[in-house]
Amino acid sequence: MTNRPPRPHHKPRPARQIPNSESRIPTSPTSSLCPVAARCGGCQLMHLTYEQQLAHKQQAMEKLLGHLCPVEPILGMADPAHYRGKVHAVLAEDRRGRVISGVYAAGTHHVVPVESCYLHDTRADAIIRTIVEMIPRFKLRVYNENTHRGFLRHVLIRTANVTGQIMVVLVATGKEFPGGKAFVAELTRRHPEITTVVLNVNTRETSMVLGKTDVTLMGPGYLEDELCGLRFRISPQSFYQVNLRQTERLYRTALDLAGLTGSETLLDAYCGTGTIGLCAAASAREVIGVELNADAVRNAKENARLNNVKNARFFCDDAGRFMVQMARENLPLDVLMMDPPRSGSDERFLSSALQLQPQRIVYVSCGPDTLKRDAEYLVRGGYKAVKAIPVDMFPFTEHCECVMLMTRS
Ligand code: SAH
Repeated sequence: MTNRPPRPHHKPRPARQIPNSESRIPTSPTSSLCPVAARCGGCQLMHLTYEQQLAHKQQAMEKLLGHLCPVEPILGMADPAHYRGKVHAVLAEDRRGRVISGVYAAGTHHVVPVESCYLHDTRADAIIRTIVEMIPRFKLRVYNENTHRGFLRHVLIRTANVTGQIMVVLVATGKEFPGGKAFVAELTRRHPEITTVVLNVNTRETSMVLGKTDVTLMGPGYLEDELCGLRFRISPQSFYQVNLRQTERLYRTALDLAGLTGSETLLDAYCGTGTIGLCAAASAREVIGVELNADAVRNAKENARLNNVKNARFFCDDAGRFMVQMARENLPLDVLMMDPPRSGSDERFLSSALQLQPQRIVYVSCGPDTLKRDAEYLVRGGYKAVKAIPVDMFPFTEHCECVMLMTRS
């Protein structure tokens, strides 16, 4: 991976025609799959075949977690291409003033033009190409990070897996979208697969993609998708898994490990839009969900109603603070399902978990280093790590998702 700026006369090469999602698993080294792999830096494992990538991740997980428990064989994808249902493109101008879209080169704010990406849902890349082509015609200016002038900053696209719905979020510096109506009309005429368009206002000089305000320009302003036979509503600000083709597999793995019999109280901590907890609800007596993001909690409550789930309640709070409160009140807890962000959980949360003594803890982690740290804490506190199951949610990248079961020893 290199963060070298492009050569002064570098012309963005047209993206190579790459196989679509029906493509077979590459069986030879795959570095030729992407013309910008080196400059983007997002796909650290692209030089390996998919089988080699899985072996690499398996080994890494065994090295990291093997002292705690056995690591079962990693669950890979049958077809690892174009798995990203969440696609983010930065808008910028190149040296000649032409509008480009792409990604920040790893660790920099330099935009590497990307017309199609081996990981992205191909529908999302096609929509982004159309937007880039439309911007100059609609006389819209893209945001310049140095001068802080311009209007459109990013495009964020989320594609649903089962329903096929597509949400386009245009991130801009203000609510006033000159020619917005005509822009959206042309975009949705050319891409009738788009089901909603949202304008997100981000005036801050930060690298955070989304600002706080959303204005719906077309459609319902959210995405609906199906997972494990349930329907989920997802707002632009709510977390939704990036690799939807593997999500059901991840959830079923976690739910298997939860070993529910119908009589348990389950806490879904860091629950997002309530997806795991609601999938578990039919097999539990009661589900409690806690999540910091207010939009996601609103979605979780809507999702419970949408699926006629009556035994799930959701709370907007910091998971640590919530657990301290649960421990103080000594509330019953049989199964703790936790799916924290990459930074992992915290001591308040974990020490309260030790006090509450759930029979089972199922830890779903997208950051194996913090999983190791937190699992070691729980093991020191008397839990036994039973097994870990890696799930490949992020092919071609170094990231690895892992689910671990811990029980009271
Ligand atoms: N289980 C969900 C979400 C997992 S992502 C799913 O599968 O979709 C992690 C979630 O933790 C995000 O929704 C994020 O908003 C939330 N989060 C981050 N910090 C938190 C905290 N301190 N307390 C509660 N939730 C938090």
